[in-house]
Amino acid sequence: MYTPPVAGSKIIVVGAGTFGLSTAYALALKKYNVWVYDRNTVPSADASSTDINKCVRMDYGGDTLSMQLMMEAYPHWHQWNKERAEMGLSPVFHQTGCLLLCKGDSYSDYERSSIKHIREAGYGHTIQELPTPESIIERFPQFKDAVDNGYKVAYLNTEGGWCNSSETIKHLYQKCVDNGVQFIIGSDKGAFEQLLVEDDVVRGIRTRDKVKHIADHVVLAAGPWTASLLDFGGRLQATGQAVIQFSPPPEFIEKFKDSPVWGGDISRTGFYGFPINAEGKMKIASHSVGYVSPRSADNVSVPRTQVTYQDDTIPVKALDNFRKFLGEFMPETDNWDISYSRVCWYSDTTDGKFLVAPHPDYKNLVIASGDSGHAMKFTPNIGFKITQVIEGIETDYSRAWSWKESNNDVLTSSDGTRNITSKPLTLGVGEARMASKVELKAPKKKSS
Ligand SMILES: Cc1cc2nc3c(=O)[nH]c(=O)nc-3n(C[C@H](O)[C@H](O)[C@H](O)COP(=O)(O)OP(=O)(O)OC[C@H]3O[C@@H](n4cnc5c(N)ncnc54)[C@H](O)[C@@H]3O)c2cc1C
Repeated sequence: MYTPPVAGSKIIVVGAGTFGLSTAYALALKKYNVWVYDRNTVPSADASSTDINKCVRMDYGGDTLSMQLMMEAYPHWHQWNKERAEMGLSPVFHQTGCLLLCKGDSYSDYERSSIKHIREAGYGHTIQELPTPESIIERFPQFKDAVDNGYKVAYLNTEGGWCNSSETIKHLYQKCVDNGVQFIIGSDKGAFEQLLVEDDVVRGIRTRDKVKHIADHVVLAAGPWTASLLDFGGRLQATGQAVIQFSPPPEFIEKFKDSPVWGGDISRTGFYGFPINAEGKMKIASHSVGYVSPRSADNVSVPRTQVTYQDDTIPVKALDNFRKFLGEFMPETDNWDISYSRVCWYSDTTDGKFLVAPHPDYKNLVIASGDSGHAMKFTPNIGFKITQVIEGIETDYSRAWSWKESNNDVLTSSDGTRNITSKPLTLGVGEARMASKVELKAPKKKSS
């Protein structure tokens, strides 16, 4: 039986990413005594929330709860932009719209279902349908090649866009500091090593420097590392997802700098991308089954990142998939070297819903993880929902994100955006070996 903290309790939050900071902020507003621990300076170089951009969308297929959560998040994003403008800082949220293109003459189920639910929720005004090849090209001429190669129907959601995710984390970190959250940061003194447990009651944590930190409650929000810190019985699994960047030539920058975020029939291909940012970088990512990196002791997948493996790129299989997709969707890219690549990690649950719940084996421990690759957009408001879970308040969210029976074998997405037909390959092995720097070069240039 879970006992919520009393007013003013000391609460330790492990992890200063989306889940951890958002929770710490919401708890601090309610005058809890909040302490955040992280193994790295914020934003942590290899955290999943650390990147140049992430998609912000309310298009969630049949997952209407996530759609609602996003609708609640938008005003917070605009408020944060206002705060930043007052401080002379660039916006964190860029409302470019999200353009969802589909292959063939009709929408895939995901797009069809998203439109239906968005309209039913009263947000129909945000949907602009582009039902013919001509209508897409007229509005977005930069996607002409994609249209000519079969992406013939699309819709734009004008409410969506992207956030500068590293800046978002920095912004939230400052809001936490301003509201009295204490931070313990460092590879030894900030790194969670173990729970302090007495008779199944969590009394605090021990960090890697062997120091004990006592608290009334602990929230474990270590992102894709969470599964490696405690036994979750297969409910959480770290999967690595490939991300690439190009630094396109000037004429292409003109064409693509004011683009919306796009999905290239995402529920069938997994590919989506971003407009070229102010530094001239264009990011494209794949939302797929991903890769695992099992540790030998127990086969639990532990994120393998460039912080430890500086020369890591992306698996050759992922590279091949990118080049095949882009050869059709954005053929100019055949002439470009990949300027940056990375494997970024999800904390996957089998149903694609977050895991935010008291841990049934311990008193005073709440898990806030299982992002399943889609939580960044909720950074400004998810902490308020997590705080309700910590306070023992039952909501639609607490029910959806509860501790469920595990089903280790089947991985799905909550909204149908991830077309998973196989098991994740092991990173570094066979087709999942890391691509060499030469292999990242442009295929056209390589053969010429
Ligand atoms: C390739 C990719 C693309 C994505 N695209 C999108 C998108 O377009 N839109 C979207 O909404 N979401 C997207 N996401 C998902 C989003 O980034 C995550 O849902 C979100 O960042 C998860 O936050 P988190 O707090 O769980 O994890 P993280 O951000 O990884 O934070 C975990 C923190 O825990 C710390 N930590 C780990 N171990 C320890 C320890 N032992 N002790 C102390 N601290 C520890 C880490 O240093 C880190 O700071 C994407 C994710 C990836 C990987």
